[in-house]
Amino acid sequence: MRIGCGFDVHAFGPGDFLVLGGVRIAHTRGVVAHSDGDVVLHALCDALLGAAALGDIGEHFSDRDPRWRGADSRTFVERVMAMLGERGLRVVNADLTVLGGEPRVAPHREAMRRQIAQLLAVAPASVNVKATTTEGLGFLGRAEGIAAQAVVLLAEG
Ligand code: MG
Repeated sequence: MRIGCGFDVHAFGPGDFLVLGGVRIAHTRGVVAHSDGDVVLHALCDALLGAAALGDIGEHFSDRDPRWRGADSRTFVERVMAMLGERGLRVVNADLTVLGGEPRVAPHREAMRRQIAQLLAVAPASVNVKATTTEGLGFLGRAEGIAAQAVVLLAEG
């Protein structure tokens, strides 16, 4: 068994939607990002790469690489999953936390969970999506951006 954790932040910017966990969510703002700025899938990629001792998302999918401009972050997870597959690693479970005051995650939680489970080739029961605020404190409390944390467990075989 191998465990990994990931964390990601994006600042809010112009736009009218966010992508969280592969799910497009209408919002009063977007995020500033090279790719689609999906903090949940970026944190997830780092957790998967961390568990496999394969570095980090910036190393594999540089934000200076024009290939990834506007990229659908599900592509990153698919590519990371392929790397894990080559090494005989599979996901046991994943626990994701969205940090920030907006947008509300609850209405989209099940869609995110199903999407992430599909990407990780596990049952939805092996994926948890939760959200927390920072009680108004810090950059997240001031709604300057959104963050996510991920923890995953991998097994061999
Ligand atoms: Mg990111």
